[in-house]
Amino acid sequence: GDILHILLSVSLICDTAGIPQFFISQIQDFSKVKTYEQELLKLASEDYLTRIGNRRFFYEQASREIKRSARSEEPLTLLLIDIDHFKNVNDTYGHEVGDGVLQQIASICKNSIRSIDIIGRIGGEEFAILLLDTDYEGSHTTAERLRHNIANTDIKLRGNLLRTTVSIGAVTFWGDSKTIDFRLHHADEALYRAKNLGRNRVEYYIDPEDIYFSP
Ligand code: GH3
Ligand code: MG
Ligand code: MG
Repeated sequence: GDILHILLSVSLICDTAGIPQFFISQIQDFSKVKTYEQELLKLASEDYLTRIGNRRFFYEQASREIKRSARSEEPLTLLLIDIDHFKNVNDTYGHEVGDGVLQQIASICKNSIRSIDIIGRIGGEEFAILLLDTDYEGSHTTAERLRHNIANTDIKLRGNLLRTTVSIGAVTFWGDSKTIDFRLHHADEALYRAKNLGRNRVEYYIDPEDIYFSP
């Protein structure tokens, strides 16, 4: 009852006069190769530390969703999440605890969004989330919940009990010909503001040309 991937090759054998006589067909079990291929694909798109998508995965998926949103006219919101004073965590508790914190924050992020949303670790201590079909109001609730969840989680690692916070830069937009890099640049601008305003907060990018949208 198993399904196998097979490789089938068929050769037509003719006699000396060129008249077809018979076929030789060869069937080869291709399942192992297929499994390796899928594992490789997973490795290429997964972040080794946190097991969420890596930068490459995020860019690919987000670019696809931006194109889709251009057709469906559904809004998207991009969240750029950066851990506050993460250097202090490494300096105080060591790099391994730092790695553990990254894993826990990744899993809080993942558990705070829907399965259709796209998440990736796009930098050392930076995560990006693309919320599908989500406008400013909806995304603001999610971003605040995420920020709150992280700030209120006790992280226990190697006998240490610590808490950490994140700053979030966000931008709501509709799909068009602009790239994910373009939107990340705007989210980064908002993130920069969140850091300057004291960290542990969510800030939205304000489009200077959009006089109607003022979050
Ligand atoms: P802030 O963002 O609040 O301005 O301060 P920060 O201390 O978080 O800022 P910065 O971006 O300068 O530092 C990021 C630190 O993240 C530096 C680097 O040592 C650490 N880091 C990056 N990747 C990893 C990783 O994979 N594991 C660990 N343990 N640390 C990492
Ligand atoms: Mg950073
Ligand atoms: Mg940081």
